[in-house]
Amino acid sequence: MPSASPYLRIVDLTKRFGTFEALKDINLEVSQSELICLLGPSGCGKTTVLRCIAGLETPTAGQIFQNGVDIAPFPPDKRDFGIVFQSYALFPNLTVNENLAFGLKNRKFTKHQIEERIAQLKHTVGLEEHGSKFPNQLSGGQQQRVALARALATSPGLLLLDEPLSALDAKVRQHLRREILQLQRKIGITTILVTHDQEEALTMGDRIVVMDHGIIAQTGTPGEIYGSPESVFVADFIGEMNFLEGIVSSPGSVMIDRTDFSFKPLPNDQVKDKNVFFCIRPEDVVINHASKPNSDVNSALSIIQHTEYLGSIYRIRLAFENSNRTEFVAQVPPANMRELNLGPGQTVQVNFPIDRLHIYPRWTCLWRWFLTQLRRSVASAPIAVTIRFREACSQFLESPFSWSCFFLCLRSSWKAFRTRLEILLAYQTMSSTFKHPL
Ligand code: ATP
Repeated sequence: MPSASPYLRIVDLTKRFGTFEALKDINLEVSQSELICLLGPSGCGKTTVLRCIAGLETPTAGQIFQNGVDIAPFPPDKRDFGIVFQSYALFPNLTVNENLAFGLKNRKFTKHQIEERIAQLKHTVGLEEHGSKFPNQLSGGQQQRVALARALATSPGLLLLDEPLSALDAKVRQHLRREILQLQRKIGITTILVTHDQEEALTMGDRIVVMDHGIIAQTGTPGEIYGSPESVFVADFIGEMNFLEGIVSSPGSVMIDRTDFSFKPLPNDQVKDKNVFFCIRPEDVVINHASKPNSDVNSALSIIQHTEYLGSIYRIRLAFENSNRTEFVAQVPPANMRELNLGPGQTVQVNFPIDRLHIYPRWTCLWRWFLTQLRRSVASAPIAVTIRFREACSQFLESPFSWSCFFLCLRSSWKAFRTRLEILLAYQTMSSTFKHPL
């Protein structure tokens, strides 16, 4: 929902720790009253973005505008935000009332105003009874509510939540998730929530920003992120996805294990590569009896390999009947499972609805995997040894020219190797023919 004048605007934000680039050209606009979730795997840079906004980290490059003002020159205490940390960070020697009053005293409110505000905050988070308790006399959920109330005490324009629920158990987390969301909607505070919990992001965010290795992989509403992932990384990170290896045989047609399946070719023809991942979410796979008349496109006979009962759904692992090589997973509600009377070894008819398919070029992901592994191994090696290697690698990996050279070398060495092999084989055949003429 970015509007013409976003409340928060992040422009080309880059943060380096030594030679390590934790954030690379992050651009993001957040509207007034919007709740944005920064989602991504551990170490992708979510907290660093939050810390740059809060002024707890100095960006290496880029700008951050809050309400149209560049906040770079302001120290954290002069910025307009409230923050809640995963560890609550409450003052252990102060009572709930004193914790809530802390920020207000620093802002020179009168005693009466402070008391009124504390009562209001305790009411907002449902802690009216607990004002005189110390943090260690409260449960984890209650401590997190105090932290939230303390962050809201000065009525900031921006609320920053750094994995606020991850230390809580599942039930409390669900409950607090709803409470935070209701509170955020009620007071309409612009909020940035950092999380690695996709369920939290999908249920809470107006928009989700998926991050990967210091860059934004995709920004969109929960529906867009889950329903139309733009890359293999997002498709794999959010929810579960079947990745079937296929080869594009003609426009709109992909061959998987000798069976042709159809897909909607993209208008801008992004799938130029022959090798693709043909992807579908397990809940989108349709299963029918093998005897059902088959008029649907993208149907194939498959054999049930294994079933798992997960309470609200069954997870079924299947393999195509004609090869048994490519496996995929389907999810079926228990009622359907009973109706179809499915079990391991049974042959069923599987359908992949065309509008539920996602196609991604396969080489991107293989090279991405290679790159990730390389980066990981380099990152875990001793710093002094790897700095120069890392610099050289990133220069190499970031240059398309280097990649082209690499591919050309690979191709020509393979060709040379093949030619030598062919000569060798020909020579061997010839010599054996001369030795043993027919
Ligand atoms: P998590 O979910 O595990 O908290 P994250 O996505 O929030 O991860 P960040 O804490 O932002 O990740 O860290 C991003 C990267 O920057 C990590 O690789 C981390 O090791 C590195 N990093 C963060 N702070 C520093 C620092 N002060 N010095 C050096 N490297 C740092």
